Amino acid sequence: MLRVLGIIVVFLLAAAAGIFFFVVPARVDASLNRVIPHDPYPISEASASFHSTLRLADLHDDALLWDRDFLKRASRGHTDAPRLAEGGYRLQVLAAVTKTPKNLNYDKNTGDTDNITPLAIAQRWPVQTWTSLAERALHIADKLKRYEVRSGGRVRLVTTRADLAAGIEKNGLNVILATEGAHPLEGDLANVDRLYAAGYRILGLQHFFDNELGGSLHGVSGAGLTEFGRAAVSSARERGMIIDVAHSSEAVVRDVLAMTDAPLIVSHTGLRGHCDSPRNLPDDLMKEIADRGGLIGVGFWDGAVCDATLTSIANAIVYAVGLLGVEHVALGSDFDGATSTPLDASEAIALTDALLRHGLGEEEIKAVMGENAIRFMIENLPDE
Ligand SMILES: [Zn+2]
Repeated sequence: MLRVLGIIVVFLLAAAAGIFFFVVPARVDASLNRVIPHDPYPISEASASFHSTLRLADLHDDALLWDRDFLKRASRGHTDAPRLAEGGYRLQVLAAVTKTPKNLNYDKNTGDTDNITPLAIAQRWPVQTWTSLAERALHIADKLKRYEVRSGGRVRLVTTRADLAAGIEKNGLNVILATEGAHPLEGDLANVDRLYAAGYRILGLQHFFDNELGGSLHGVSGAGLTEFGRAAVSSARERGMIIDVAHSSEAVVRDVLAMTDAPLIVSHTGLRGHCDSPRNLPDDLMKEIADRGGLIGVGFWDGAVCDATLTSIANAIVYAVGLLGVEHVALGSDFDGATSTPLDASEAIALTDALLRHGLGEEEIKAVMGENAIRFMIENLPDE
């Protein structure tokens, strides 16, 4: 009897572990990264033949956070190498999400809680990632490098301007690694070198909470750069890293603009004048970033463009082109960033079609859909 009970207990524990380690992460992923159900988008023949000439690029995607094989087409989420290839993508920035607060919102969050710790455990990440944000970023870079090795040339991490200039001429997807918030530095400048050595070339300064570098747009302080933040930005710039101020407080953006001439990116955002959302920076600040050579990636989800439809994304892009100048506008989908979007990466042709219908010219669409980001990265990635 005891033996039977023992077997039942072991069986139940194994079943519970199976659910925790395999079923829960997939469920969380599928529920947070939805494609809004829709009929196939009608695409004109003219749009289809024009789209096939484009090289697409996108400034923000969180696919590496999730427990999926990036090389296989998944039935959940928004992106993987096959779907990006089908969409025509040649360059994708993949970001490392390392800590997010519970009850995530666009108004006020503290850094006291963290959703990523249970996710890291449930997804069977290495034990050192359970307690260290730096280790999480290093693990995410490792994941990408393992995909690169297995991909047979379909996926490549690019870290220099020469890498990208050569890679963009070949088949396959070029990937640049970014941090989503620089809290993986853990307040230690030596970690700039560790992240750089791991392949990170874009330093996103904040995510949803104020961190050691300064205030988040959705934090509690509204503060600018701290002393550590200034030192981290200087150190990243000495290495030629690109600074991303998506999620940074207005004060942080102004402080960064005051301390460096380097062009900034706002990798995934909307425009206040189009969508008055607390997720978006004021237009005058966006204009200043653009006038200083920066690049703004327009997002595909409701928090950025108010309404997650192709029409709203196209209107946001048309507005951004009018406000900032066409050469400063790019795509910043936030695919797989706990967003619901009207398309996945394989359906990018529908956005080309929408932009044509919303009055952008072919040269403008070509620039926004990819060429601006490709040019910006070739100009701004480090030499080595
Ligand atoms: Zn984000």
